[in-house]
Amino acid sequence: MHRNRRLVPRAGTALLLALVGLFWSESTVWGKLLPENFPVPVIVNQVARSQSVTFTNPKKEDQVLYRVKAGDTLWQIAKRYRVDWLALAKANNLLDCNNIKIGQVLRIPAETSFDLDSAGDLPPILYSWPVVGRITSHYGGRHDEFHHGLDIAAPLGTPIRAVAKGQIAYAGWRPIYGQTVIINHDDGRKTLYAHASRILVRKGQAVAAGKVIAEIGSTGRSTGPHLHFEIYEQGRTVDPLSRLIQ
Ligand SMILES: [Zn+2]
Repeated sequence: MHRNRRLVPRAGTALLLALVGLFWSESTVWGKLLPENFPVPVIVNQVARSQSVTFTNPKKEDQVLYRVKAGDTLWQIAKRYRVDWLALAKANNLLDCNNIKIGQVLRIPAETSFDLDSAGDLPPILYSWPVVGRITSHYGGRHDEFHHGLDIAAPLGTPIRAVAKGQIAYAGWRPIYGQTVIINHDDGRKTLYAHASRILVRKGQAVAAGKVIAEIGSTGRSTGPHLHFEIYEQGRTVDPLSRLIQ
């Protein structure tokens, strides 16, 4: 009885110790298992890492290179590869988009920020010149700003002609641009003629290619008589030289 009495608490203690021991041994087992298990997630991580590396690698290795051929324009190349032409210029550190040389190798950017909806399918076009004169400033980066047009110097009063048929979308004064004419063309392109001394058309008027729309001036921000000529395609300016008959 005496033993039994002693045994009861002993059995209780033993049970408690056994439970503690089990917990301890289990936690020890976990403690031991964990380090052994750790390499698994580590390996998973490594796989994931190496996969993320291989995901980016093909992009770089698959980079398309294009060698510029005679007659190419940056816009045409960009369109051919369905990439944004500005992204193409940026990817190749081209400040002057008109200045691509035959034989030059261009890297076609993999990213396609190209908006396919707004890309449309503009037919290639070659315009006649709006005025005969000397080019004084090209399209593209100029000092710390971007020059969105082509500057053609000509004597005051020289006729400025519509480069293609269209409808006058704007005829009047604009800050910086001075006396300005904007033409909407049938294919969605727009052309802009700035710094005129005199405007000879009005808004809404239909004009034929070659129609005299204004006269050379130096209105707005201008240092001498010249035409500032811009071409818009899907709301963006393009290098006019790439659209003018050479
Ligand atoms: Zn200009």
